[in-house]
Amino acid sequence: MEKIYLPKTIEPIKGAQRKKEFEGIIPSQFLIRLNEIMDNSDIHVTLQCDYDIRKVVYIKGKITTSVSLHCQRCLKKITHPIEIAFCYMPSNDEYDIIPEGYEEIELDEKGYVNLYDLIEDEILLSLPMIPLHKPEECHSPRFQFGHLNAEAIAKAEEKDNPFSVLSVLKK
Ligand SMILES: [Zn+2]
Repeated sequence: MEKIYLPKTIEPIKGAQRKKEFEGIIPSQFLIRLNEIMDNSDIHVTLQCDYDIRKVVYIKGKITTSVSLHCQRCLKKITHPIEIAFCYMPSNDEYDIIPEGYEEIELDEKGYVNLYDLIEDEILLSLPMIPLHKPEECHSPRFQFGHLNAEAIAKAEEKDNPFSVLSVLKK
């Protein structure tokens, strides 16, 4: 399939008037803040601009890609799949309260949005604070006892109680 690159900027209001739909990729090297975690996967994006039933302009889309993180337990690589759905509306003085399901986005003075920045932000915000392997995939020596024990340790860690980990190990 031919790769179609997404435009760097879009005009949501004009896009909504024309019911514009986009589908394409952003080569990961264009998103500089993600350089360290991208593993050469392209970032696949679908996008629609339109009006909802209240005549609110929206930019709705989906991001699919994967990034490469490091497990904070064993420090080995994790391939972390990313699938994000988003829905923005341009900032609008008519609305004191943003309608449910929307996030607000500021247009520049010409009515444009920087799509690459938006997508980069979405990906950064979606990343786990502490990336961890699933217990059965982790290389940490603590998880080399077999699945049952690994699950128990993971559960104990979730409870955030240092003693519960010990109690599992003692068994
Ligand atoms: Zn791990």
